[in-house]
Amino acid sequence: MRIVLLGPPGAGKGTQAKELVTKHGIVQLSTGDMLRAAVAAGTPVGLKAKDIMARGDLVPDEIVVAIVSDRIGQPDAKRGFILDGFPRTVPQAAALDRMLAKKGLSLDAVVELKVDPDILVRRIANRVEQMKLRGESLRPDDNPEVLKQRLAAYAAQTAPLVEYYRGQGSLRSIDGMASIEDVASAIGRALADAAFRRVSARKADRGARNSSSGRKRVGRKAVGSKKPAKKVVKRAKAAARRKPSSKASRTKAGRTKSASRRSVRNRQKSNKAVRSPRLTK
Ligand code: ADP
Repeated sequence: MRIVLLGPPGAGKGTQAKELVTKHGIVQLSTGDMLRAAVAAGTPVGLKAKDIMARGDLVPDEIVVAIVSDRIGQPDAKRGFILDGFPRTVPQAAALDRMLAKKGLSLDAVVELKVDPDILVRRIANRVEQMKLRGESLRPDDNPEVLKQRLAAYAAQTAPLVEYYRGQGSLRSIDGMASIEDVASAIGRALADAAFRRVSARKADRGARNSSSGRKRVGRKAVGSKKPAKKVVKRAKAAARRKPSSKASRTKAGRTKSASRRSVRNRQKSNKAVRSPRLTK
């Protein structure tokens, strides 16, 4: 399962991502965490991102896209992943589509957590208080001034993704103001619905491809059709005419019984060789 969690800072993406990790056994890929790790380790990416993050601005697309592209190629992401904090711009979303398409993959759902902006400020203030109480070190961007900038960056650069994904038909919007449990249940329902629609769409697509035109038939008969394909009927009739037990063919050819059986076997072999590539398509 491949999911994108979309929502402004403080919407609860991280909390819900962790619930999904436990429930589905897939990895959480948080670009914020990856960038903070790069900053802490003093890598070249970290050095570039440090000040941008401290101001509440977005790190350049090419840097983040490269990090994600590398990360989703790792073995633990094979079973699926939850992207938390990525994509954050339309070019990042387009780059994600391209990198998944290259692997023959696509997103299963994009879950948007909708939250009242005034509540966000309060939520983050609470989070900061609790972190202080626990003696945890604070994020340099968790202060009222920078928070304003993070919210502004979301409104200007990330909110357009809602329309981008709505256009693709993958968007599921959830009320992020409910309790953690209720939001988790709503996400569960949205993912189940997305999976159901995907399966139905695939079935409908297969049915349409195998309908009246008959051009894209698979195997012996068209999938979803009770009638065997015309060519298959023709071949079956021809095979019936060639039955080894036919007395007439034996007398006509003037062969002995065993010679006749050998020749039929050879014919069947060569027919099979011609037919098999079509049948295994
Ligand atoms: P939050 O969602 O709470 O704002 P994150 O931990 O997701 O925080 O991100 C923290 C900071 O990391 C962002 O403000 C931004 O500077 C940078 N960042 C994270 N993800 C991206 C991204 N996809 N594109 C650009 N910058 C990013």
